[in-house]
Amino acid sequence: MTDERDARAEVDPIRDALAAVVDRHRSNHAGAVATYIPELADVDTDGFGASVVSVHGRVHSAGDADRPFTIQSVSKPFVYALTISDLGLDEVHRHVGFEPSGEPFNAISLDPDTGRPDNPLINAGAIVTSALIDGPTVRDRFERVRSFLSACAGRELHVDDDVFESETATGDRNRALAYLANSSGVLRQSVGDATEVYFRQCSLVVTTEDLAVMGATLANGGVNPLTKRRVMSERPAMLALSIMATCGMYDHSGEWMARVGLPAKSGVGGGIVAVQPAQFGVGVYSPRLDSWGNSVRGAAVLQTLSEDFDLHVFDHPDESRSPVVSWTTEDDVTSGVLRGEFDLISAETVIDRMLAAAADGNRRIELDVTGVTRARTVATELLRVIGRHLADRGVDVVLDGDLG
Ligand code: GLU
Repeated sequence: MTDERDARAEVDPIRDALAAVVDRHRSNHAGAVATYIPELADVDTDGFGASVVSVHGRVHSAGDADRPFTIQSVSKPFVYALTISDLGLDEVHRHVGFEPSGEPFNAISLDPDTGRPDNPLINAGAIVTSALIDGPTVRDRFERVRSFLSACAGRELHVDDDVFESETATGDRNRALAYLANSSGVLRQSVGDATEVYFRQCSLVVTTEDLAVMGATLANGGVNPLTKRRVMSERPAMLALSIMATCGMYDHSGEWMARVGLPAKSGVGGGIVAVQPAQFGVGVYSPRLDSWGNSVRGAAVLQTLSEDFDLHVFDHPDESRSPVVSWTTEDDVTSGVLRGEFDLISAETVIDRMLAAAADGNRRIELDVTGVTRARTVATELLRVIGRHLADRGVDVVLDGDLG
């Protein structure tokens, strides 16, 4: 068993490809570490690591993948997902919007009509979001955040107290944002409590492997692929990815989505998480930042991975495989066996065949759907409609199995 594992670890083409990309960008020394939080300036500026974790739970790492750094803004989409799990999207949306602000992360941006911050990934929106976490004391509320992010990472995360103290000491701008949000009625806790939870959440220590596992948990519809634990339901995971796709890379998010095409979130600590939905999460780290606040080498690694390995989410996929395994007719009964994902184009194929069978005089169509792994609502609805249409014409449609 150990031998087999060792052998498997020795042969890891994903790790090797990742290491080659990291090496390619190692000599890029552009950018500067964040200094507005003094403790963040005190890092080895050369630290550089990357990890990929698939939804199968396999971990592939290169460079300084076990180097600790503070999560900073990468925490924001996860806390957003937690508030949606707790309160539902409509209630969260009463406090914070969805729209890219087009302004720097610490901008004073509240919607003039609603008083809400534009989105949960700028500081104003993240502070409002953190204040939506319930609990009797500020300690309890932070503990909920810490344990949720830990569940996403698959291990217990802890605060770097020095960074927390440093953020607290220099956090007047964030407190000012909280006061403004409070004055427009969208801050559910006191300014002191809200910013304390927020500063602590930003000071949680992670590695690129942690970020990759957290990303893979979103990619996997809310189930941590290492621990197999469901950390959130599918909808908050989907909404976290949506906001990452539109607002995740500060005011560089539009170009990022066009060029790299992976929902992502960066932090001023030098980390970035990126996600290919249903496939994998990537965590990268390098502390020198560009003018938007994104890790220079981290962003470069992700762009190279996307370009070299066709990872853009809008890359045109191959034509979907036919869901029809077999389709036979005996007497006036047609029997079809379906498998895999039953989606709109699968339904289109099946409906064509059903209509052809009915036109040929078949009186009964039996569909074995026991091999369908997931049925999209659009497909089951279309099947229901065509079933009614055929029933009116004297053709019975009978399902073996359940489409949900
Ligand atoms: N704690 C940092 C701040 O509030 C987070 C900023 C970031 O990573 O974008 O300024």
